[in-house]
Amino acid sequence: MPHDQAFWLPFTANRSFWKSPRVITAARGHYYTTDDGRQLLDGFSGLWTSGLGHCHPKIVAAVQEQVATLDYAMGFQVTNDKAIALAREVAALAPAGMGKVFFTNSGSESVETALKIALAWHRARGEGQRTRLIGRERGYHGVNFGGISVGGIAPNRKAFSANLVPGVDHIRHTYSAGDMAFTRGQPTWGAHLADDLERLVMLHDASNIAALIVEPVAGSTGILVPPLGYLQRLREICDKHGILLIFDEVITAFGRVGAPFASTRFGVTPDIITTAKGLTNGVVPMGAVIVRDGIFDALMQGPEHMVELFHGYTYSGHPLAAAAGLATLAVYREEDSFARARATEPVFAEEIHSLRGEPHVIDVRNFGLMGGVELAPREGAVGARGFDVFLKCFEAGVVIRNGGDVVQFSPFLDSTADELGRIVDTVRQALRSLA
Ligand code: PMP
Repeated sequence: MPHDQAFWLPFTANRSFWKSPRVITAARGHYYTTDDGRQLLDGFSGLWTSGLGHCHPKIVAAVQEQVATLDYAMGFQVTNDKAIALAREVAALAPAGMGKVFFTNSGSESVETALKIALAWHRARGEGQRTRLIGRERGYHGVNFGGISVGGIAPNRKAFSANLVPGVDHIRHTYSAGDMAFTRGQPTWGAHLADDLERLVMLHDASNIAALIVEPVAGSTGILVPPLGYLQRLREICDKHGILLIFDEVITAFGRVGAPFASTRFGVTPDIITTAKGLTNGVVPMGAVIVRDGIFDALMQGPEHMVELFHGYTYSGHPLAAAAGLATLAVYREEDSFARARATEPVFAEEIHSLRGEPHVIDVRNFGLMGGVELAPREGAVGARGFDVFLKCFEAGVVIRNGGDVVQFSPFLDSTADELGRIVDTVRQALRSLA
């Protein structure tokens, strides 16, 4: 095998990729540059990561200064000044009472950390029999063993015929084409879908259930917007039965829904929030798990110098990542990015709903600056049509993403109306050319 193709790309059909590789060599603002010198308008903000645009000068400067000042410091029993400062700022943005921040290096690690904290908390309170974890169909929680176990994406599980984490169940997802198709904002139908959690409580007894993890708005599986009242109902059921509620906000935190967190926007406070992407604008990998104060307190009972969470990563709170995070949060404040995203939401909604009626389109969904256009699958080839649209757009100079047959959009928090129009029109032309 030629070594110039040694790189095994993640979540990519590698054999077909190498026939005409798509290689990006530079980026600035809202544009990528490819190895053949083309400029591409990024309609996906990196991979939901880079809402402030690429190579933001203030973030670049902060990282450059940090790498020349403190490259790395041991993170167990010792820490660095930037990690302390970033945790303080993340806690200040988080819903009241969620004041503890544990750093990871990715969304997947944030999920594993959150699930383990949930189990440890029950055990510390003498309820160590609460081991069952509940996820949701069509949930995406990263690719580690805990994440694929609570996740509800069949191919990500089946490919490994694995013994996944035992004792995991799934509540049903929140999409019903007949009742919700083409709705904007939150669907008014479907709050009762939360009651599926009661079915699992009946089946297993609450005393065996540790936590429920859900994405407030499911992203990777096609922008599934929670029905009005649904998240509130999940919160009530969890409270009633002593089940911890984890919101996986890896996509929705830090502005994507026009607020610091989806929890803030929906007014529902979970016990644990997982984050990653928007924390550093994608510049240096980092995730953060935000935890309710009382959970930390219960876990830290006992002899002072001996009680710890037996969990952590060599790079937890890495100074470069933390410096990138501090600069990113500062720019969000200076540019009023979350309010700008919120103000852009109706313009974006208008644009993507104009795709209704185009060839193959069977639904259009959006919330905040997250959008999904669902296409009818090509016979016998689920996902092929979505991929064709991605390729056509890439050739035409716009980067979007396909999750199966859902064409997905994640524009920058400061996208202009012109840019949104161009992204959507490029998809429109792609759909027409595939008619
Ligand atoms: N949770 C959610 C909700 C996600 O959307 C993602 C990534 N798209 C992850 C977890 C995993 O994050 P990572 O790829 O950084 O491990």
